[in-house]
Amino acid sequence: MTDKRVYNFSAGPSQLPMPVLEAARDQMLNYNGSGQSVMEMSHRSAVYQQIFDETKADLKELLNIPDNYKILLLHGGATQQFGTVALNLLHKGRADYIVTGQFSGKAAQEASKFGDVHIAYSGKEGGFKHIPSQDELDIRDDIDYVHLCNNNTIYGTEWNYVPDTKGAPLVVDMSSDILSRPVDVSKYGVIYAGAQKNMGIAGLGVIIIREDLITPHKENIQVLSEYDTMVKSDSMYNTPPAYAIYVLGLMLKWLKSMGGLEEMQKRSVAKAKLLYDYLDNQDFYIPHAEPAARSNMNVTFTTPNKDLDAKFVKESIEAGMVNLKGHRSVGGIRASIYNAMPIEGVEYLVDFMKKFAEENK
Ligand code: PMP
Repeated sequence: MTDKRVYNFSAGPSQLPMPVLEAARDQMLNYNGSGQSVMEMSHRSAVYQQIFDETKADLKELLNIPDNYKILLLHGGATQQFGTVALNLLHKGRADYIVTGQFSGKAAQEASKFGDVHIAYSGKEGGFKHIPSQDELDIRDDIDYVHLCNNNTIYGTEWNYVPDTKGAPLVVDMSSDILSRPVDVSKYGVIYAGAQKNMGIAGLGVIIIREDLITPHKENIQVLSEYDTMVKSDSMYNTPPAYAIYVLGLMLKWLKSMGGLEEMQKRSVAKAKLLYDYLDNQDFYIPHAEPAARSNMNVTFTTPNKDLDAKFVKESIEAGMVNLKGHRSVGGIRASIYNAMPIEGVEYLVDFMKKFAEENK
């Protein structure tokens, strides 16, 4: 038990910036003189509509989203989009999936229920330490789209280029690196992400979709999976995840006040560098990802054995850091250092790692 805030390295849901939590607290009982909490208001009211519209406008501004893209704010997180993308985009019935981790594997599996899915690359045998180069991709001709996951939250790898898809639209899961750096949205057909890392809290999926990919709804899919209907109803066919959208709005205002995505990129690179520089200059911890594939969001490594991994996690909690335990499928340690993690948190972790290594060599 503690009455202090801890350094929270959770992969998601993740730590939120203090100004966001404070704004939510201050507005909890009475949002902007409306006499209601955002949790209590009608999603059709003028006061909520303003929150919704500003949130979309701020996202468009921050990510520099071109006018021929639509923004959807929907239920179901990222996983809902694994099937939704396939249901909406498969016309020829063929899509290629680049599998660089567990979530891209799940996305491929889900899409294969609806069409002919070809795995253009799989990093499974190599333990998902690698991001493929263009030459390693086996992309077919005449497909509806190519899918990839930009940042592999579990394994700590991240794409640092946009592959050539032979003209097919590129669909990307950006759940764990969206808003951490500027992106050229025009290179993608669809970008989707669960909100609970850099965009606030769970319960919300953000989808950015190029207009020409939104086709009239099909009779044989659930209404909440029809991009066409969701666009026409501006994400309000039913009650949207209203509070999560409000928190996204607070996150975007905070990001703007901090200097936007260029500033976030500088900070992310500096934070990750602290950890990777240390990992590269010691011989106790074993980094997981190949150096060229390293993520600036999730830094993964192990100690020399499982007992020491467990000891590391236990002692890190005693030292005021939580959620450093690696994902159950990989073990070891994972430090998720999204936008809300201050550099002091990473410095504190590196000091702890040095001390732990000395004591356990
Ligand atoms: N994709 C990635 C890259 C993720 O990190 C996660 C969740 N950690 C998901 C998809 C699944 O997201 P959700 O729980 O929002 O469905």
